[in-house]
This record gives sequence, structure tokens and C-alpha cells, in this order.
Amino acid sequence: MTTDSTSKNEILFARAQQSTPGGVNSPVRAFRSVGGTPRFITRAEGPYFWDADGKRYIDYIGSWGPAIVGHAHPQVIKAVQAAAANGLSFGAPTEGEIEIAEEICRLLPSIEQVRLVSSGTEATMSALRLARGATGRDKIVKFEGCYHGHADSLLVKAGSGLLTFGNPTSAGVPEDFVKHTLVLDYNNIPQLEDAFASMGDTIACVIVEPVAGNMNLIRATPEFLQRMRELCTEYGTVLIFDEVMCGFRVGLGGAQELYGITPDLTALGKVIGGGLPVAAFGGRADLMQKMAPIGPVYQAGTLSGNPVAVAAGMSTLKLIQEPGFYERLGAAAQRLVDGLTEAAREAGIPFCGDAVGGMFGFYFNHDIPSTYGQMMAGDKERFNRFFHGMLDEGVYFAPAMFEAGFVSAQHTDAVIDETVEAARRVFKRIG
Ligand SMILES: *Cc1c(COP(=O)(O)O)cnc(C)c1O
Repeated sequence: MTTDSTSKNEILFARAQQSTPGGVNSPVRAFRSVGGTPRFITRAEGPYFWDADGKRYIDYIGSWGPAIVGHAHPQVIKAVQAAAANGLSFGAPTEGEIEIAEEICRLLPSIEQVRLVSSGTEATMSALRLARGATGRDKIVKFEGCYHGHADSLLVKAGSGLLTFGNPTSAGVPEDFVKHTLVLDYNNIPQLEDAFASMGDTIACVIVEPVAGNMNLIRATPEFLQRMRELCTEYGTVLIFDEVMCGFRVGLGGAQELYGITPDLTALGKVIGGGLPVAAFGGRADLMQKMAPIGPVYQAGTLSGNPVAVAAGMSTLKLIQEPGFYERLGAAAQRLVDGLTEAAREAGIPFCGDAVGGMFGFYFNHDIPSTYGQMMAGDKERFNRFFHGMLDEGVYFAPAMFEAGFVSAQHTDAVIDETVEAARRVFKRIG
């Protein structure tokens, strides 16, 4: 596949596997989908990071989304240092938590009240509990290929029949825990209508990535989200937009602004922590008022609203509101996708790409996919060769075909053009 002359990475990987399962703290980092040795990162700045061998990479994962203003932005680092100097955690409320909550509510009008947590998994898990607690119903609907973190009832794939309940995708998740989770096809309106017609008044919530980023990048069609909104309203079902990835990423107002659709609850994460652990769920005040300590739905966290993490998040939310920020971000992602597509075409390789704001996807397919199945039909073997070719060239794309990519505000035209030139060389080798 590739010649890993990256000795320090190899030594660290061998060492890591002694103390940690698979050598990593989150599976995709282990490169198992593409093979080869994961790079151990020592530092990052702007659009770049460096590995243990001192090799520089143009980074297109950005910590899987949070690094939207570029790595180690001086204003974010300064805010974090200032907060840290005042103490790391108190287990009592702070003014910073009010400020970031007010900012989130101002930027996303569907969110009247918000609760801070420490990971996207916690955010979606808590939103589900709230939806169930508020409706008194058990059933939930999710879509194949959408990822909502690793809570038990969400680690599910579709069952054998269209409207049968799902099967666990992880050992350790009891069938009993997922028997209330219905898994449907993304972008399939008739199937969603059938599900509501047969059991709508028992469905607590529908949870969806309105721009999916965990089956590569796949856009929901406007009609799909619109119909989902109508059905949820008609049946008293809570509509949860999981914007952990696409929130503050596809635009300042998230996917809900882009599509003009108001969810009942929203889950946030990634960008709102600016690289430290902040996530959140929020929405209609009448729903949020059902949360403890004033309501019956319990949820808590020792480090929720941590002052250092909130400082990183708040300074990031300030930076993304600078004039023209999303225009520049979107132009960078589009320039990359256009450049890669042109370079692949020159080499005669079936390839296409898409970008929404600062998020992008590219596919070794003839057409841009709109479902999980179409995405999975891509040429995985060629993707792997492309990935390793680019890695050798000093460009770090997501180490799996099923992941979206991310640009930051520091990915200038020159950085993008350097990437496209590298891709031109790699496509020629793998054509
Ligand atoms: C990353 C992600 C999550 C999980 O967030 P963690 O912070 O990794 O727990 C949930 N939903 C979506 C859409 C995500 O992209």
C-alpha cells in the first residue's frame, strides 16, 4: 500500500497498543479502514499539523470539525490561558456559562433554552431522554448512515423488513435497548410517511443529521426535511436536529437556517467547544423546562460548562461572526472540491465532490450519493490508494471513505492549490 518510513509514528503506535486497545482513544484514528500507521500529532497551527517525525500535513479533518478558525488561533489560546489561570473547574455556576448559552440562543433562534454538556454523545442521549420524557412515548426514529454518538439506543442498523425495528451495531447493546429504535433510509419520504401512518402516535422523536457528515457528506433534500417537520407536528413527535457536526459549520445558523426548518430540539458539539469538550442540547422552552432541577427528566455532568472549555468555545463563536467568515470558508471548500474533481477528470477517474459551507465530501462514484447505500457503492480500494498517496504528499484527509472533510478559515487559496497539485500527481499514479 504505502512505504511507511515514519519510524517514530511506528514506535509510538506499537507502544500505544500495549496500554490502549488498538492504540487509540477513538476507533477511526487507528487507520484500520485504510491500513498503514496512524500519525501521532505533536503540534498544529493554522491549516497544518505535524507528526512525530516532524512531517507537516495540510489538515482536512480539523479535529473532525472543531478547528474551524484554524489550529491554535491566538485569540482562542489567549482566552483559554486566561480562563485556566483562574482555576480549571469549580462544580458551581459561572458567568461564562450564561454568556455562551445566550450566544447560542441568539445565533440559533429555535433554541430558547440550552443545557451544556461535554460531548456530542451526551447531547443526543439527553435530547432523546427529554423527548421521551416529554411525550411519554418510547419509540424513536433514526436514519441509516447518520451517527449520533455511541449511546445504546442509537447504535442500531436497519432490521430485515422496512418497518421492523433495528439490530444493535455493537456488542454489549441488548436487543431490548434497541427494540424501540426504528431505522429508516435517509432521503426516503414514502418510507417515513409509512412509518408515521402505522405508528406515528407512538413515536417520541425523529433524530436526523440535516446535513449528514458521518456517511461522508450527504445532503438531506429540502423536501425530506420539510415532510419530516410536517409529520412530527401532526403526530406530536419531537423533531431533533443533530447539528453536532453541521452546526456553525455549514453556516452561522446551521442547517436549520440553510433549510429554513425549525426543529424542536437541537444537539450541538464540535465547533461550540473550539477544540475543548463543550456540547449542548436545547430548543423549545416548554420542552427544556422539563429538565432537572425544575422538571422530571434527569441529566447532569461534573464538568458540564467547564470554564476553560467554555472560554475556548466562546472565543471561537466570536471569531466565526467576523464579516465574510462563512463566505471565505465556503469558497475554500468549493475551490478544493472543484480542483480535485478537475484533477480526477484529467486522469480519467470516476470522482465527484460536494461542499456545504466549510464541510466537504468527495466520492469515487459517478454521481453524488444521496443515501448510505449509494455512498457505500464507491470505489473503496481507489479511495485507500488516494488517501495514502496524499498522505505521502503531506495532505491529511479523513482515513476512511465514510467521513466528511473540513476546511478552516486558514485554508487559503494557496493552501488549497497546493493540495490540488498534490492530488493531480496522485491521481496520475492511481489512474
Ligand atoms: C461527532 C458527532 C456526535 C458525537 O459527538 P462526540 O463529541 O464524539 O460524542 C454526534 N452526532 C454527530 C452528528 C456527530 O458528528
